[in-house]
Amino acid sequence: KVKLQITGMEKKYKNGDGVENINIDVYEGEFVTMLGPSGCGKSTILRTLGGFLDIDKGDILIDGESVKDLPPEKRPTAMVFQSYNLWPHMTVYENLAFGLEIKKVPKNEIKSEVERGLKLVNMTGYEKKYPGQLSGGQQQRIAIARALLLKPSVLLLDEPFSALDAKIRAQMREELKRIQEELNITVVFVTHDQEEAMALSHRIVVMNKGFIEQIGTPTEIYDHP
Ligand code: ADP
Ligand code: ADP
Repeated sequence: KVKLQITGMEKKYKNGDGVENINIDVYEGEFVTMLGPSGCGKSTILRTLGGFLDIDKGDILIDGESVKDLPPEKRPTAMVFQSYNLWPHMTVYENLAFGLEIKKVPKNEIKSEVERGLKLVNMTGYEKKYPGQLSGGQQQRIAIARALLLKPSVLLLDEPFSALDAKIRAQMREELKRIQEELNITVVFVTHDQEEAMALSHRIVVMNKGFIEQIGTPTEIYDHP
């Protein structure tokens, strides 16, 4: 079943940079990675999927509905950036509860939801800590938990591990893979790191200079680079 359908999509900035002729179908439960060098248009595509950028041509459908018909806060996506974007003055608990309150999740369910989120990312017990008291990897786990608790149809991840050192990055990849499989969530992931793309993805979209160069499984991409 197709979860996310991008057809004939074009987004150009005033200076002419951007992306064009973007066609991608992402299936439910699929982990798809946009791979390519800096400036090839990965973040631009991700931001259009999240509703942070309007498109010039084509369409983006999530569950068959055009995202442009929905205001950004109603779009069924959640995005995690390379910087963690946790609120520094709020505890871990408050950071996770805040989005649920906005979504009007009943008060009596919020506590158990927050605990569920922390357990998913192996951060049970950190409720009272502030982001500044956590390592980079721990902060990124909290950012991922916060996104997951919103139960997005599609989770968008923009180089979420690039600020972490190699050992932690490898751990985080494993955990993301575990969570993605456990919850069967649909993920669109952005990276310039081929090894990371190979390790995580069901399919890889290879981008170059604003175009899609190739779409395939890691094996297909590796065999026909
Ligand atoms: P990537 O994520 O692959 O590094 P981006 O999507 O950020 O690439 O950028 C694609 C191209 O569009 C680049 O040439 C970049 O300089 C340009 N670009 C990105 N954002 C803007 C913007 N807000 N205004 C003008 N050009 C932009
Ligand atoms: P990074 O490569 O660190 O992810 P981005 O490409 O996302 O950085 O760009 C950071 C910010 O600068 C974004 O708001 C983006 O829209 C803007 N930007 C990127 N490239 C350009 C550009 N060529 N002209 C104007 N703004 C740009």
